[in-house]
Amino acid sequence: MGNDKSSTVALGGEAKPAVRRKPINRQQLLLRPVDVERLIEQGHPVRAIWELVGGLDLEPFSTEIESLEGVAGRPVWDPQLLISLWLYAYKDGVSSAREIARLCEYHPAYQWLTGLEVVNYHTLADFRIDHQEALDQLFIDILGVLSHEGLITLKRVMHDGTKVKACASDKSFHRKTTLEDHLRLAREQVEQLGDPESEELSQRVVKARQRALREKQQRLQEALKELEHLQAARAGSVEKEQGKKKKKREPRISTTDPEARVMMQAKGAYGPSYNVQISTDAQAKIIVGVGVGQSTDAGELEPAVERVESNLGDKPQQMVVDAGFTTQDTIEAMAQDQIDLIGALPERGNSRCDPLKRCGKSPAFYPQAFTYEGSTNRYRCPAGKALLYEGEERKGGWLHRRYRARASDCQACPFQSQCCPGTRRGRSLVRREQTLALAAFEAKMRTMEAQQIYKQRAGVAEFPNAWIKDKIGLRQFRLRGLLKVRIEAVWACLTYNICQWIRLCWKPRRLVQA
Ligand code: SF4
Repeated sequence: MGNDKSSTVALGGEAKPAVRRKPINRQQLLLRPVDVERLIEQGHPVRAIWELVGGLDLEPFSTEIESLEGVAGRPVWDPQLLISLWLYAYKDGVSSAREIARLCEYHPAYQWLTGLEVVNYHTLADFRIDHQEALDQLFIDILGVLSHEGLITLKRVMHDGTKVKACASDKSFHRKTTLEDHLRLAREQVEQLGDPESEELSQRVVKARQRALREKQQRLQEALKELEHLQAARAGSVEKEQGKKKKKREPRISTTDPEARVMMQAKGAYGPSYNVQISTDAQAKIIVGVGVGQSTDAGELEPAVERVESNLGDKPQQMVVDAGFTTQDTIEAMAQDQIDLIGALPERGNSRCDPLKRCGKSPAFYPQAFTYEGSTNRYRCPAGKALLYEGEERKGGWLHRRYRARASDCQACPFQSQCCPGTRRGRSLVRREQTLALAAFEAKMRTMEAQQIYKQRAGVAEFPNAWIKDKIGLRQFRLRGLLKVRIEAVWACLTYNICQWIRLCWKPRRLVQA
């Protein structure tokens, strides 16, 4: 009786009418007029995106369109619409073409963009990856707009790398022998699949299975090819590193995304990833260059400077980076290009996993306790014994010179347990080659001014990284392969730059006009 709308409730002996509720009628049919222009308010960011994109030259996106006025055929979607859809979707953290197609059916911002039409997800997915050069040009054109607005000066550019997960699992990585076994098996399966005319299986099923196996074969062949590249690159780096050679683990490649590499993520976990390299102008935190790498940050600064120059026609005056980038090669290249480099040097002895501490050396016998004698190119240990020059090796962009004490000196030394415990060879010491550029860089980084600039690095360089991951949702790529992954990264960075333009230019201008 409690749910009976017509019932009365007795209260203090008097009957009180029941509450009158609004009825919900889900059986009715409504016909409503829709004013598309009023689906969203005047200050909605989708209007800003449409306005900005509409003011650019989008001709490079139309070069391959075959649908022409006066000729038979269906009309195509305007590139301005497809670009705006993707940019607004990325801004909202949506990176799936299917999801955008769904949003076009009911979301006011997407309905306003499309004029209540629905764009097919195949069209959206193809458009995202089919116009690499045009997309790069769009990125440059938008940088031109931002530069004109005074948001880019190139006086100080902070550069950083951030690892983004690849669209592949850990289990998809295999060694060469496993890949070859899988390829042989796939070939046998294609042969055993039998005659497509066979009556046991329908032709459609047989052809579908054959197609799946052919695709698998192709992926395995690509993985084997990529493995050869990786082995060749590793062999090259071993050749370069003259002197001591470490035995490296047998390389493995993903069959899902052969160009992905296992990298350490922010929290120390390892996983298939790409290293997205982002250069950010410090004036208004605008991304002025984006690239994607397959390795660590070492050696990525020189290509980053080239990208910035190619995008804006000028080199940055100053580059600020963390210790991952400051190799000897990079310091020298920046000095040669007359770019003021600010960065930390990778320090030994400060890390929590300090290798000197791990192998039991006492801090009193760390390298700084040894004296270098330039005239004879040797070191003198705290016990007064000489460490003679042994050879040099190039490692991670650094030229290292190795010195070693005589084994007989160390074995007879009372400090051996503190200086080189557990080794029968004499104590060794590695010294970085000291060049003019390196000495100047070290001297500069000891100044208060350089340290103050370096302190700003994290706030500027890591801001777009965090935005792209948290707001745009680029924690894992949807696409596979270096080329497509780079395209995805450019879309995300383009969206970030437009968000900055909306925040710093478009919205304040609207407020003034209002
Ligand atoms: S162990 Fe060898 S290198 Fe170390 S202090 Fe003694 S003599 Fe010198």
